[in-house]
Amino acid sequence: MTHYFCSGSCAGVSDKPGTCQAQTCEKHDHPLEPCECTDGKHGKTETQNKQEDVTDNNNVDESN
Ligand SMILES: [Zn+2]
Ligand SMILES: [Zn+2]
Repeated sequence: MTHYFCSGSCAGVSDKPGTCQAQTCEKHDHPLEPCECTDGKHGKTETQNKQEDVTDNNNVDESN
């Protein structure tokens, strides 16, 4: 069943779309994120593959 959760510190969950209601949450008034998890982990199954090609350029400054 679809539910909506706040990704902020309040970790609030609602079964209806809306915004975070926790005054102390940094995501207060931000829209809740839809989720269909059944284990309460809220979509931590998303695979995020970060592939960064870091090319090291060694620039040798020849100055005497
Ligand atoms: Zn929140
Ligand atoms: Zn969830």
